Amino acid sequence: MHELAIADSVVHVASRHANGRRVTKVCLKVGHLRQVVPSALAFSFELVAQGTPVEGAELEMEEVPATGKCRKCGVESRLQSFPLQCAACDSLDLELIAGEELYVESLVMEETQELTADS
Ligand SMILES: [Zn+2]
Repeated sequence: MHELAIADSVVHVASRHANGRRVTKVCLKVGHLRQVVPSALAFSFELVAQGTPVEGAELEMEEVPATGKCRKCGVESRLQSFPLQCAACDSLDLELIAGEELYVESLVMEETQELTADS
């Protein structure tokens, strides 16, 4: 259940950036290789966010496909499964260039400067 640990750090980061404001939406980039179960992460997030400025915020996850660059022919392949293999020359000697991301890409916060009713 590593989703709980991830949710914990996401809420931490979001709360810190919120700076007293309420967070309404958190956009996450999640690399395919992190093998995060989205439903488990969403559940953990909701749990951990309770009592923080992030409580009730929407969690949006964008998955980043795993991508490797072949050390032999230089072709970049999108990797679907293990083993990671070059689509052009079948080499297994790939350098991973994407797919291990895991970070908060953006936050949407509630506007606290509410205009006072006129008149
Ligand atoms: Zn290759």
